[in-house]
Amino acid sequence: MEPLISIRNLTKTYGEIKALDNISFGIKENSIFGLVGPDGAGKSTLIRILCGLMNPDCGEIEMMGKNILKDRTILKGNIGYLSQKFSLYTDLSVDENIEFVAGIHGVRHFKDRREELLKFTRLTKFRKFLAGKLSGGMKQKLALACTLIYRPKIVFLDEPTTGVDPVSRREFWVILSNMLREDITILISTPYMDEAERFNEIALIDNGRLIALGDPQTIVEGLKESLIEIVCTPVRNAYSILKENLDAEIQLKGDRINILISKEKSGEYIRLIREILERSSVEIFSVRESEPSLENAFVHLVS
Ligand code: ADP
Repeated sequence: MEPLISIRNLTKTYGEIKALDNISFGIKENSIFGLVGPDGAGKSTLIRILCGLMNPDCGEIEMMGKNILKDRTILKGNIGYLSQKFSLYTDLSVDENIEFVAGIHGVRHFKDRREELLKFTRLTKFRKFLAGKLSGGMKQKLALACTLIYRPKIVFLDEPTTGVDPVSRREFWVILSNMLREDITILISTPYMDEAERFNEIALIDNGRLIALGDPQTIVEGLKESLIEIVCTPVRNAYSILKENLDAEIQLKGDRINILISKEKSGEYIRLIREILERSSVEIFSVRESEPSLENAFVHLVS
């Protein structure tokens, strides 16, 4: 099946900065595709180009079979875009914001759909509230409801969960998976690796470059390294000691240390790690092999 969106050799520079460096991938219809990478990776730039708000230096984009860099008419009414900036009218109520967007898009009979969307985003109770009075998570849900009022085929979401509390983040995820039932294709960007594990497919990007592409599980399984996880105290001290004494990729992650090492060496390294830490009077709680996460894979692929 042809992808709904095909991106080929896309490059975009701002002066000296290469925000996108020869990026190519496809997005399947009716899926959640994630653009995953840290701040400055190029995610917003790519989304803005896909929405027709900016031109790349070179490359091609086909959306629903049309070259959107030559002719943008296909974008009208077919795409929805949630930018990082809050783009609602703070002095209009929830109801009025949705009505306003329906008006801009020429949707005359919007009332039933509005009821459906308010229910869908659990905002019915708050319909009379001014948008400016809503919490961060509710504002994001309202922005989404406004986008969905004109029934776009593709929705671009630029970091919708950044700065949103964990409960609202979870709720937002349920809403997104329900959107798939309406035959909507979603492209979403996030800096959170743990969220990425929920996407059908992802593109890991860093510094404008595509680091890995595919479903998250396959990317992690493709690692030739195994993960050694160490729980000990004082952890920062142990981290510096291991960095000095071990020839391996060492990551400090919260209260634990992660070490990626080739699979055949893991037994030998577990013994070595214990020896080094015991010599330095670090108190060890556990040193064991564990499943690598997408974040481990990302750090490894970048390095
Ligand atoms: P992300 O969304 O992943 O944080 P961006 O696409 O915003 O990444 O930025 C990619 C790179 O391009 C960054 O180095 C950023 O500083 C730079 N950049 C983004 N927009 C502009 C701009 N308008 N002018 C100059 N540099 C920019």
